[in-house]
Amino acid sequence: TQAPLNALVVGNWKMNGSLATNATLLEGLRAEAASFANITVSVCPPFPYLAHSASLLAGSAISCTAQNLCHEAAGAYTGEVAASMLAELGCRYVLAGHSERRAMFGDSSERVAAKTRMAFNAGLIPIVCVGETLAQREAGQTEATLSAQLLPSLASLSPAELDKLVLAYEPVWAIGTGHVASAEQISSVLHYLRALVASSTGQADIAQRMPVLYGGSVNPASAQWLAKMPEVSGVLVGGASLNARDFSEICRSF
Ligand code: PGA
Repeated sequence: TQAPLNALVVGNWKMNGSLATNATLLEGLRAEAASFANITVSVCPPFPYLAHSASLLAGSAISCTAQNLCHEAAGAYTGEVAASMLAELGCRYVLAGHSERRAMFGDSSERVAAKTRMAFNAGLIPIVCVGETLAQREAGQTEATLSAQLLPSLASLSPAELDKLVLAYEPVWAIGTGHVASAEQISSVLHYLRALVASSTGQADIAQRMPVLYGGSVNPASAQWLAKMPEVSGVLVGGASLNARDFSEICRSF
C-alpha cells in the first residue's frame, strides 16, 4: 500500500509546438483546469517556449517542467541550458534521463545523476526517467537495466532531497508505439523500483511514498485504468499531451 498522493500528470511536448499552437493548447487547458483541480498538472514546452508558456499559465495551477538541463551550473557550455535559468523562468520540475536523451543524445546514467544533482541545487524537482528496451525485457534484463539507470542518481541525494524526487517508468517499447505496458508489468516494475530505492538508500518510508509515474502511449482510455492502480502516482504523457481535450481527459481520470 502506497501513501496517498496528489496525482501528478505531466505532458511532455518533446520537440513539438509553435507560439500559435502552444497558445491554443494552453488556453484549452486553462479552460478545463477547474475540472482537475485536485491533482498536480505540469507541461513540458521546448526551451524557446518556456517563458511564453509560463506567462500564458500565470495565475493558473498548471506549472512548467523543463525537458532537460545541463549537468554543469554555468559557463562555457554552448547550446546548453542551466538549471538556474529554468528555475528563474518558473519551472517546477525538470525531466532527467528521458529515454530519447539516453538513446540519442548521450545521456549516460552518470550524466543523468549529475543532472539530478544539479536540479536539486537549483531548487527544481527532477523527474528521473528509466525504462528498458524490448530486447532488454526479452533477455530478462529489465530489473538490471532499471537499477543501472537509477542507482547513480540516488547516490548523492540527502534524505530531504530523496523525499522530493519523482521517478517515471517509461518502457522504451511503449513510447510512441500505441502499445501501453500491461497493469501486471507496470505493477511489477513499480514495486521493484520502490524496493530498489529502499534497499539502496535505507529510506524505506521515503521509498514507499515516492511518486512513481508511468509513461508510454498513455491516452484517455488507458488513463482510466492506470488511475485506478494504487502503485501509479501519475503519468508522463507524450503524444496525447499535445491535444487539450485528450490531455484534460487524462488529467480528469486521476
Ligand atoms: P508517448 O510518450 O506518450 O507519446 O508514448 C511518452 C514519453 O516519451 O514521455
